[in-house]
Amino acid sequence: MSKKTFTLILILMSIALTGIITMQALWVNNAIKIQEKQFEQNIFSAMKNIISTLETKSVAVRVQFQLHQLDQNMEALISTSDTSVKKITVYTVRSDDSLKVTSTMDIDSVLSKIIIEINTNDNPLERFQLNLLDTIIIDEMKNFGIYLPYEFAVVKFADSIAYKSKGFTNVNLQSNYRSNLFAQDATDKDYYLILDFPDKQTYLYRSVSNLIFFSVFFTLIIVLTFILTIYYMLKQKKLSEIKTDFINNITHELKTPIATLQVAISTLKYDPKFEENETLKLIERQGNRLQTISSRVIDSSFHNKPKLKEENVQIEKFLKVLLSDFEKSMSDQNVKWTHNFTSISGVQLYIDKAYFRAAINNILENAIKYNDKTEKQISVLAKVQKDTFILEIEDNGIGISDKDRRSIFDKFYRGLKGNIHDVKGLGIGLFFTKQIIELHGGKISCESKMQKGSKFIIKIPVNV
Ligand code: ADP
Repeated sequence: MSKKTFTLILILMSIALTGIITMQALWVNNAIKIQEKQFEQNIFSAMKNIISTLETKSVAVRVQFQLHQLDQNMEALISTSDTSVKKITVYTVRSDDSLKVTSTMDIDSVLSKIIIEINTNDNPLERFQLNLLDTIIIDEMKNFGIYLPYEFAVVKFADSIAYKSKGFTNVNLQSNYRSNLFAQDATDKDYYLILDFPDKQTYLYRSVSNLIFFSVFFTLIIVLTFILTIYYMLKQKKLSEIKTDFINNITHELKTPIATLQVAISTLKYDPKFEENETLKLIERQGNRLQTISSRVIDSSFHNKPKLKEENVQIEKFLKVLLSDFEKSMSDQNVKWTHNFTSISGVQLYIDKAYFRAAINNILENAIKYNDKTEKQISVLAKVQKDTFILEIEDNGIGISDKDRRSIFDKFYRGLKGNIHDVKGLGIGLFFTKQIIELHGGKISCESKMQKGSKFIIKIPVNV
């Protein structure tokens, strides 16, 4: 992997990771805000109910109290569903325990007495039985399903405390949960009921704790995967660099002894007995083979692409010589060759002869290497079509699977079948061939059927 690709992957992964973490944070934050809003709505509704219950209960208690004063011999029970005085019903219980509605009683005077008493009271808070507040709040909180410790106070002009719960301090005065005790009353609008929940924040976080837990958990897994991926990518990169360096070094180290061997062989060739000496000829063949392999490995571990020395070449003549040399070198194999050259006489290609020959030789070598038939058939077809020179080399070998076909032109790739049949190779032949064809402005492709054979097609533009 190139440094550029690595940096790009790193940047993309970092952006994705930052995005995911930011989204999770926004999501959690949003959930807390929704919870807070819901909580706030519940609290304000509860406070409205608390104040209205307080009003009702206070009036009921006062009326009861007034009726007691009115007639010592009667016990009065007051029931009211509204603070409106008109709806008060008065029952009396006589001393003989019989229940009777006191229709004869002067209710108007009772009520007017109460109203006068309420209205003439200087301190508006006197209208309320504030000691009822604690139980009313407990009930309302239960109604709204809020089981949080709270502090409350009734304050006048923002901060003068008239009545408060035990733990209420000046800190609790900052609470936003405050409701006017006399919302309808224009003159007494400066009296507030304040509720404060010291553990509110913890409660809110706890209410989205599942969400926070899973968000953090999955984000951690993503971060961990990210770190592991980077770690293994770096490790892989380092390994691949070491491998390439090693191959480069070893082939460079081999170059000198191979060159010396070839010089020695060419000196030996002056000896007239050379042609009869099979051992010397074997040494020459293997020396040449070693030389080809090492130079291909060096060429393939490109940082350095091969530099072509191109010239105009009569392609028909070039192919004929190439094929006849190759056929001779494979004379020990049972190969049936077929050539079919159409309309290529006089056609010139602008190519580097040495590299082009090596590229085609690779395909021919493979056509024999990967063939388990007793009679190997190789057909070579050359033609020119619409200013394009087309060369097709077809064999009746083992064929290439679809999966392998996608990778055979990759550096160091060896097909599974190649290994099974114990055919020697480095996996750089077709990589090299493809590179050479492309440097000539051409294209190479492959068609194949398992057990039937393979066809390699080369297309090179013809100079006109
Ligand atoms: P090598 O021959 O050293 O393995 P190549 O790059 O020349 O490397 O070929 C890559 C792979 O492509 C081979 O390992 C083999 O599996 C497959 N292959 C190439 N040519 C043929 C062919 N004519 N028939 C079947 N398989 C082939």
